[in-house]
Amino acid sequence: MCGVSMVDIRDKGGLEKVFASTRFDAVVHFAGLKAVGESVQKPLLYYDHNVAGTIILLEVMAAHGCKKLVFSSSAAVYGSPKNSPCTEEFPLTPHNPYGRTKLIAEEICRDIYHSDSEWSIILLRYFNPVGAHPSGYLGEDPCGIPNNLMPFVQQVAVGRRPSLTIFGNDYATKDGTGIRDYIHVVDLAEGHIAALRKLFERSIGCQAYNLGTGKGTSVLEIVNAFEKVSGKKIPLVIGPRRPGDAEILFSSAAKAEREFKWKAKYGIEEMCRDQWNWASKNPFGYASPDSTKQNGHSH
Ligand code: UDP
Repeated sequence: MCGVSMVDIRDKGGLEKVFASTRFDAVVHFAGLKAVGESVQKPLLYYDHNVAGTIILLEVMAAHGCKKLVFSSSAAVYGSPKNSPCTEEFPLTPHNPYGRTKLIAEEICRDIYHSDSEWSIILLRYFNPVGAHPSGYLGEDPCGIPNNLMPFVQQVAVGRRPSLTIFGNDYATKDGTGIRDYIHVVDLAEGHIAALRKLFERSIGCQAYNLGTGKGTSVLEIVNAFEKVSGKKIPLVIGPRRPGDAEILFSSAAKAEREFKWKAKYGIEEMCRDQWNWASKNPFGYASPDSTKQNGHSH
């Protein structure tokens, strides 16, 4: 890779070298682990990467006078709100270690801003990012059995898995399946650019913003849209509810729309279209069919 250095954020010496070699105006901090189930099995691993890693990054940033940060947080900090749309003022009660690592990192950011008002920090609470880059070259390649809906649907469509299990169809929703706020990854990326611009406009302290579309979509609506764009049938099995799942969770995107002058542009059809474009060009993700049998890896 040319001109790119890779350093684990927990490697303070390595990070120090990066900051000593280049003057950064701001940092967008995406580094972290994100599988909810794995965080339940391996909480210390999650606290180490997501919390200890963030502390080290903040220490090195402060030491080099770089005090502008955009942080990848998550709607998981809200847990299961009683109603939607969910605004940034909703109670923060995460249900699992993953969500707690994001909340703790947010609290650390709020505390360092209170201790030193030179910091300007935007915490972006992602809802459900899906889709892929429209080129078809960049997409998600989860390791092992996907936890999330869209990568699972994609693997069924390309024939890697026989069927999708729907986690409950007895919710009090239009078709009985769970409702979420899916956002195209390109819209999400543009939300980060808008957040960065905001950081350079004026000092904004430490503030959280939802990144979502403000619209709720059911599991069945996703499956139908995916079948339509791909022309593939997604066989369904109705299973029990997944423990800890919210019935309905979608964002109020009003704060980011108002203050960033940003708005998600893409709808469900485009999310499924770009997901399918990536999937059909790369049915085995970044690996070849043979290498996935031996070693799964994620990007
Ligand atoms: N879901 C499902 N089958 C799957 C994976 C997910 O029915 O194999 C449902 C899940 O119950 C939820 C929605 O799809 O209603 C989105 O789940 P995901 O794990 O992608 O996101 P999260 O629940 O973390 O918002």
